[in-house]
Amino acid sequence: MIISDKNLEQLAWDKMSGLLPAIVQDATSGKVLMQGFMNQDALATTLSSGKVTFFSRSKNRLWQKGETSGNTLDLVEISSDCDQDSLLVLAHPNGPTCHTGTESCWFDSAASDFTFLADLERVLAARKNADPDSSYTAKLYQTGIKRIAQKVGEEGVETALAATVRDTEELKNEAADLLYHLTVLLQASNLSLSDVIAVLKARHQG
Ligand code: AMP
Ligand code: ZN
Ligand code: ZN
Ligand code: ZN
Repeated sequence: MIISDKNLEQLAWDKMSGLLPAIVQDATSGKVLMQGFMNQDALATTLSSGKVTFFSRSKNRLWQKGETSGNTLDLVEISSDCDQDSLLVLAHPNGPTCHTGTESCWFDSAASDFTFLADLERVLAARKNADPDSSYTAKLYQTGIKRIAQKVGEEGVETALAATVRDTEELKNEAADLLYHLTVLLQASNLSLSDVIAVLKARHQG
């Protein structure tokens, strides 16, 4: 169930410790970022402040993630699992979540295919401020929205053509070109893949 200040007591709080494990997931990419423990107070504080807050077993007190590092987690949604003994926290991280400086505490784990698109988009967004001589993407931004839009048109046509002549290898390559240039076009228009996915999600309801 989705957690609010109305249903905190319905959770299966551990009888001994009063804690529940809480897994934090990046709300955009779906990456698993970290795991901590919450007591009722930590959960209520998270909901009221909008900043993910745990109960630290080593500090023996409430611990707002990022309280010293500044790498806080902005709350999106908290839900409980089937038997109410585990929490899933969706959040937007401000900086790396792991205290080792990595994005996720599971830095050895491979990203999923769909998460890769979010990683790629982040790299492409950062290229807006890069030296045009150092990067094809940075140069593309510099040539302006018309040229980027034209590239999307060309890659769209090439993708359609490859599918029409049933050239599977070419279709994969052209579709990759199209996704890349479409992501750059959205970035150049100050839009993200999330904005497009929001439209698809809204249609899906109907
Ligand atoms: P922070 O909450 O980011 O200011 O970090 C404060 C302290 O909490 C760090 O020095 C670590 O000891 C610990 N810590 C921070 N982030 C994590 C994490 N993702 N997993 C476990 N411990 C953490
Ligand atoms: Zn469970
Ligand atoms: Zn960590
Ligand atoms: Zn192409």
